[in-house]
Amino acid sequence: MDDSRGRRRLASQLQKPVAMLTCNFMPPSEHRPSTISHDDVTTLFHEFGHGLHHLLTEVDELEVSGINGVEWDAVELPSQFMENFCWEWEKLQAMTHHVETGEPLPEDLYQKMMRAKNFQSGLFMLRQIEFALFDLRIHHEIVEPDLQKASQRIMATLNEVRSQVAVLHPPSFQRFPQSFSHIFAGGYAAGYYSYKWAEVLSADAYSAFEEDPQNYAAVGQRFWKEILSKGGSRPAIESFKAFRGREPSPEALLRHSGLLEAA
Ligand SMILES: [Zn+2]
Repeated sequence: MDDSRGRRRLASQLQKPVAMLTCNFMPPSEHRPSTISHDDVTTLFHEFGHGLHHLLTEVDELEVSGINGVEWDAVELPSQFMENFCWEWEKLQAMTHHVETGEPLPEDLYQKMMRAKNFQSGLFMLRQIEFALFDLRIHHEIVEPDLQKASQRIMATLNEVRSQVAVLHPPSFQRFPQSFSHIFAGGYAAGYYSYKWAEVLSADAYSAFEEDPQNYAAVGQRFWKEILSKGGSRPAIESFKAFRGREPSPEALLRHSGLLEAA
């Protein structure tokens, strides 16, 4: 998804937002229609969520309307929120059918997909937490001007973090930081945690719908009013709390990852 223009109030008129999705899906062949993988459908929902965030804004200032000006660690909330629908049994039944027989997705296949999704999710989550803690700690704690000493602190910090959270410990010659391009060659320095944090926010927002399945429309209206419409016009945490009525909780993410039984 990309935005081609944002909403803003001009002297004589309101400029409406425009967003686009560029999709890289399997095209149909001569004898078969296009069959889009579940992964592609999830990506479509994800990017559509960014699109909704941009299009449903009610902010008139360009710099903070739509996706503009939304904090880095909250901008994936609406997109990851939308992915949840691709893992709902009823929703998948409605959006799938076999290319030849027209049958919807069988339930045993759905159950297998869920088990595959959550396979070793605990290890994956700890890995993300290890990376995020390492990133935050080296940027926060190491202010050593001597590069030689600083580099020693980096490996020592990683080892400390691993001793706290890792289950699998790599051999001592392993040099993970040297290939951690997200923070050293990308834009995620001191921001790697935002991947996990956005998952906490999006899962917790989605759980508002799970808690109130009879009132999808009303919860959706509130989601629009408090989160999608606000863009960067107020801190994202305020938008979240206005929607959810409380601070974010990791409970829904743990449940969706198969790490916590439903209450
Ligand atoms: Zn995204």
